[in-house]
Amino acid sequence: MGTLVLALGGRHLANGATIVAVRVWPAADYTRVTIESDNALAAKHFLAENPPRLVIDVDGLDLSPQLRDLVGQVRADDPFIAGVRVGQYQPRVVRLVIDLKQSIQPQLFALAPVAAYRHRLVFDLYPTHEPDLLLALVQEREQAEQQAAQAVRDALGEFIGQVDRPAAASAPGPGASAPVSSRPATAEASASHPGPTRAAAEAGDTSTKSSKRINRLVIVALDPGHGGEDPGAIGPSGLREKDVALAVALQLREQLNAVPGMRAMLTRDADFFVPLQDRVRKARRVQADLFVSIHADAFFTPAARGASVFALSQGGASSAAARWMANRENLADAVGGINVKVKDTSVMHALLDMSTTAQIKDSLRLGSEVLGQIGRVGRLHKARVEQAGFAVLKAPDIPSILVETAFISNPDEEAKLRDERYRARLVEALCTGIKRYFAKNPPLARNRGT
Ligand SMILES: [Zn+2]
Repeated sequence: MGTLVLALGGRHLANGATIVAVRVWPAADYTRVTIESDNALAAKHFLAENPPRLVIDVDGLDLSPQLRDLVGQVRADDPFIAGVRVGQYQPRVVRLVIDLKQSIQPQLFALAPVAAYRHRLVFDLYPTHEPDLLLALVQEREQAEQQAAQAVRDALGEFIGQVDRPAAASAPGPGASAPVSSRPATAEASASHPGPTRAAAEAGDTSTKSSKRINRLVIVALDPGHGGEDPGAIGPSGLREKDVALAVALQLREQLNAVPGMRAMLTRDADFFVPLQDRVRKARRVQADLFVSIHADAFFTPAARGASVFALSQGGASSAAARWMANRENLADAVGGINVKVKDTSVMHALLDMSTTAQIKDSLRLGSEVLGQIGRVGRLHKARVEQAGFAVLKAPDIPSILVETAFISNPDEEAKLRDERYRARLVEALCTGIKRYFAKNPPLARNRGT
């Protein structure tokens, strides 16, 4: 009898689930597979060897075209998944076999409907060993320096070659122009900030600190908001906040990496979701000197426009709009999807409670530098740095700001965010703001030992 009912199709069965969508989010950090369905799904899983694979049995499900789609969604460059096989293992049980490229620690969890999503069954494939982010940054810099040195040697060789040949002497060589250095406006610094600088206040002797600083890598954590399952806000013509945030962050990384002694670390460099706490954790793992979260949100009215910069607040929010924005951003974990069983919330909460007034003070300084620069490129929503309880700004020891570059919900601003030239100017402004902050608040010498 059971098989007969099955032959009529799972869609009409009581308690049977229909697949709404299947999505794969590959990334170096972890690959996520999401199965979205109209009813909640339950699944069991185990790891098997020879070949290494993750086997998942999903209950209450019949094989459907959407599930077969999963096979085609796996990209050749997925760091974890070599391929997926699906089959009807038993009546009402679909077996997914995920062939693996490396050993993994899988996490399976279900998410209740939220935002535009129905029920979601999520498999996160994490690497067995967490990569050393700081080591990767240092190696990346060494590689960049070697490449730069090689480029100089190549250019010099070419130049010498041209000098050797009198016929080419009329062309000016690449070594002719004098090096240009952007000098920080330190005089302005003392005028706008009457208090002692952080270095002077905490170290006393700034001269020894600055000499140590020469060998020290200054690390800026850039945090492109949202990603993966969490698109962030979506503009009237369909531009997604997560894509804008990533594009801005990637360009800003390039600019910051061009500053001698500076290195940018991205909390995500592709389209995948990073839980809010992990963004903070990543910044702390590389002992970042700054944390800049990049967004382009919607507002409750499409007329809202202009950029805003936010810092953390220990007490209440600085305005109702700031509180609204923080609540909205803090929803990212629910939409993006986190495994609440694994997140060690008690440790993180204890840590977050350590948030200090010093961090907020530095964050406000950083915020006003950045706000000042963005104000030259476009309109500002508020002329001062706002404060609210953004979860992503809670690294107790890292000055942290959240930049709403514009309101993607405003058609004019959406068009600007789509425009590469506008984004380039925005990136330039963010970079200048960050450099000015460092010029006025030199980072302390800190042990970078891992
Ligand atoms: Zn956002």
